[in-house]
Amino acid sequence: MPTTPLSVTSRLPQVGTTIFTVMSALAQQHGAINLSQGFPDFDAPAELLALLGEAAREGHNQYAPMTGMPLLREAIAQKVQGLYGAAYDPGDEITVTAGATQALFTAIAALVHPGDEVIAFAPVYDSYGPSVALQGGHLVPADLPAPVYRPDWAQVARLITPRTRMIILNSPHNPTGAVWTADDMAALAALVKDTRIVLLSDEVYEHMVFDGLRHESVLRHPALAERAVVVSSFGKTYHVTGWKVGYALAPRELMAEFRKVHQFNVFTVHTPSQVALARFMARPGWYEQLLALYQGKRDIFRQALAGTRFELLPCQGTYFQCVRYAAVSDEGDQSFVARLTREHGVAAIPLSAFYPDGRDEGVIRFCFAKSATTLEQALERLRRV
Ligand code: PMP
Ligand code: GLN
Repeated sequence: MPTTPLSVTSRLPQVGTTIFTVMSALAQQHGAINLSQGFPDFDAPAELLALLGEAAREGHNQYAPMTGMPLLREAIAQKVQGLYGAAYDPGDEITVTAGATQALFTAIAALVHPGDEVIAFAPVYDSYGPSVALQGGHLVPADLPAPVYRPDWAQVARLITPRTRMIILNSPHNPTGAVWTADDMAALAALVKDTRIVLLSDEVYEHMVFDGLRHESVLRHPALAERAVVVSSFGKTYHVTGWKVGYALAPRELMAEFRKVHQFNVFTVHTPSQVALARFMARPGWYEQLLALYQGKRDIFRQALAGTRFELLPCQGTYFQCVRYAAVSDEGDQSFVARLTREHGVAAIPLSAFYPDGRDEGVIRFCFAKSATTLEQALERLRRV
């Protein structure tokens, strides 16, 4: 019997495989040092790993509550109170998620209706656009012009329309490493005042803000927080990107909508990781240690690259360093990173992957969340480019 050809109309016709997967695979194929996808190549603290085993052996192996383990939600509430002076009720304003990706997707699915406009800043993290598109929303990019990638608030004001439902912000910013100031937060607050716009704040790099700058969490700014879902990730903070545990905070009315979606797209998150993270969070000093670690790696990486033909762009936060390569080559950024991987053995991310219009400004991103040995080897190769 002839089989019927399966006809699938794509919900995401413009979308291919994420650049992080593509570049990590290419790095592996060529045995290159992988400075593309953002993850540490060193392990989490032994104590945290021991706590994970302990939690499993103690029997924390069945479904956690839909909203997350109470112990972990309490620890998150204490953290944001201590760091940002923000009071969130673990009962109905905090939800543990399967990483920041699921939190972002869930917030968008819960709050964006077909035809709604969502403003995000380009270069824009690659999951936002497809998440908005799947809800029938329209991503409206606001420019962060190179090389400092600061928001242009006059432009954002022009982009706001009666259909604007959400603004997505991300400071410290992936991929550029730019960090927003208190003035940026005030400008944003002035623009959204008296509107129906909700904010989605992606703060996964909240603990990686360098040079004495302060992380301007939305949680510090009540006029923003009252209309915001704030997202973070334990993956970045504790070197466990593979655990895929993060969280979302929001005022109870917003969180109620968030949870309606969360319960049906993931229901609940890996239980022993939640127990281990909650217990580990009780130890003091981690955030300071993490900051010192990454600021040190950034400094080593920048100092070594300063003597090469790559032009360093500013890096105030995150574990990413962007560079221009005009002095090395005039080829497109996708082809340049492929050649860098193949011929020089170092993989990076082309920034054109983060522009909805595919713009190519000859800038690539390196991840410096790597051991001293990996960085040394990569830098030796990059010096020869
Ligand atoms: N947002 C940004 C800006 C990120 O860089 C990342 C991951 N690197 C995520 C969200 C996703 O975080 P998670 O791995 O916790 O899903
Ligand atoms: N966010 C990480 C990065 O920017 C990658 C996460 C992923 O692979 N989805 O490199």
